[in-house]
Amino acid sequence: MARMMADCRRWPSDSDCSLTIIGEEDEVVRAAAEHAASVHGHEDTPELREQIREFLEPAEAYTNAQREHEPMPG
Ligand SMILES: [Zn+2]
Repeated sequence: MARMMADCRRWPSDSDCSLTIIGEEDEVVRAAAEHAASVHGHEDTPELREQIREFLEPAEAYTNAQREHEPMPG
């Protein structure tokens, strides 16, 4: 299974979060949902996990350089 990435640096956040989570898709979705709930005050719902899944990027896209923020969808 290909490794995927959820990159908090992609989105604007109060804490300017720098966390990047990389692993297999299910691992990343779970860790990112728990992170979104514990750090960013989101509710860990099936809808949130679905949205996280849609925004995953291939792990190969990882770069340690700073990223431009994208507008938060929805
Ligand atoms: Zn974060």
